[in-house]
Amino acid sequence: MDRLSMPKVTKDIVQKYGFKFSKSLGQNFLVDSNVLLKIVDGAQIEEGDCVLEVGPGIGTLTRELSKRADKVIAIEIDKNLIPILRETLSDRENVEIINEDILKLDIKKLIEEKFEGKRVKVVANLPYYITTPIIMRFLEENIPVKSIVVMIQKEVALRMNAQPSTKDYGSLSVAIQFYCTTSIVANVPKTVFMPQPNVDSTVIRLDLLDEPPCSVKDRDMFFRVVKASFSKRRKTLLNCISSSELGISKDDAFKVISGAGIDEKRRGETLTIHEFAALSNEVYDFLE
Ligand code: SAM
Repeated sequence: MDRLSMPKVTKDIVQKYGFKFSKSLGQNFLVDSNVLLKIVDGAQIEEGDCVLEVGPGIGTLTRELSKRADKVIAIEIDKNLIPILRETLSDRENVEIINEDILKLDIKKLIEEKFEGKRVKVVANLPYYITTPIIMRFLEENIPVKSIVVMIQKEVALRMNAQPSTKDYGSLSVAIQFYCTTSIVANVPKTVFMPQPNVDSTVIRLDLLDEPPCSVKDRDMFFRVVKASFSKRRKTLLNCISSSELGISKDDAFKVISGAGIDEKRRGETLTIHEFAALSNEVYDFLE
């Protein structure tokens, strides 16, 4: 079964079980052993590590992960894949498959019960239709994982990894980088999937920070200010902040922006995460 990533082996097993790929569940299975290795190497699994996998499909990535991790728990929404996984993972004793929707599952409770305080790393070839909601769940709910190494749509990965004053930099970049450091592991062409998706992919690595990189007085306000700052891409910060849902007049927007030590003529997309923090702290004090 270690040849599971070969296109013919994947094809044979799905045919054997009469499995029909579901586009709406983002079922594009990986059929390339080089990419598989890049993901597993990128996950940097060390002795004693546990892995949580989202969407094991037919178990291609799961098998490789189970060779390096102490324990692997894989969450698969599609009940039609469960009998296949039972066959492809029959010899892997450290793997548990859970037939659930990752967006509805109590992940914190699962980690507590199943991994008993060991270090947990998330590794997945994610379904594209819910990439951002899945990742944001882990980050916003403070789910205790060390890192997240996932294959996702290339454009989304570039946005998550983007730096200020680049075309990909936006509220998603700031949201992700508030919780993690990011790095690109590999770019992956669409040809390595069965069936082929319409877009190319990227494997991104997110290392969760113990503390945010900047000090914010109010997290909700920080994200509201970030959203407002990116609301009109070619407008100045003054314009964005004064015409946003924050309800701040132009005069007051000028005061809070300069109070944060920022030139009001700059555009939101040039601000670093530290500048967003300074600005949101000023706005918070002003609105208090
Ligand atoms: N890991 C396999 C691979 O690399 O070949 C399959 C990856 S495929 C891109 C995404 C997988 O996620 C599918 O098996 C799909 O059924 C599953 N999936 C989709 N939505 C899900 C959800 N909400 N919760 C758990 N699994 C989900």
